[in-house]
Amino acid sequence: MSSTIETAKLRLQQAHTRITAAAEAAGRPLEDIRLIVVSKTRPVADLLALQAAGQNCFGESYLQEALVKIEAMHNPLPEWHFIGPIQSNKTRAIAESFGWVHSVSRASIIKRLNQQRPAHLPPLNICLQVNISAEAAKSGCSPQQLPNLAQRVRDADHLRLRGLMAVPVASDQISVQRRSFRQLRELYDQLQTTHGPLDTLSMGMSNDLEAAILEGATHLRIGTAIFGPRHTNQD
Ligand SMILES: *Cc1c(COP(=O)(O)O)cnc(C)c1O
Repeated sequence: MSSTIETAKLRLQQAHTRITAAAEAAGRPLEDIRLIVVSKTRPVADLLALQAAGQNCFGESYLQEALVKIEAMHNPLPEWHFIGPIQSNKTRAIAESFGWVHSVSRASIIKRLNQQRPAHLPPLNICLQVNISAEAAKSGCSPQQLPNLAQRVRDADHLRLRGLMAVPVASDQISVQRRSFRQLRELYDQLQTTHGPLDTLSMGMSNDLEAAILEGATHLRIGTAIFGPRHTNQD
């Protein structure tokens, strides 16, 4: 087994150690926090090694690359999370191959995913992505659009509304990180009362997972902390 794979397994353990410490500091049960390993740009061998080490939940951003891995890994079947930007011509393959989509922020995409989700599969789990930093360059809907989009997901037979996702502006200051995550959490709490039940707050990456856990994250999306820096300009 190559040393990169050994390193990735070691880092997976280290990520679990960070998550456990942060959950303890937040006074939250560990079972309420799931780790999605973000495996974009990583070869399938790395994913298989982590799967053998007990990790069965992966996040991907680039569809073509993801489909190759999904094809190669079906026994046991991982839980696949799509977390990248969604173009209309990609919705069919996403609806057919993933269990979760975290990056939904447009009515037209909701409609297509619902129409294209195969009837023999369970409903596709949906998180609405919110642009909490209100930056023109970042994807996600505005907080004002949330009730309308949430209602559309609720009304879709083949979709299941689970919660919210965000990628806030990066900061090294924990107070700034926490402020962004708290904003998402407040939107989640509001939507819980109007469009619940919700159970998923998808926030926290390699550099800010502690802040995210303190503010209530249920799903962390972690890549770099496990695999090291990505050698690509794709993201
Ligand atoms: C790449 C990516 C991540 C992982 O980020 P790291 O900093 O490598 O942990 C998480 N979420 C989204 C949406 C991403 O695109």
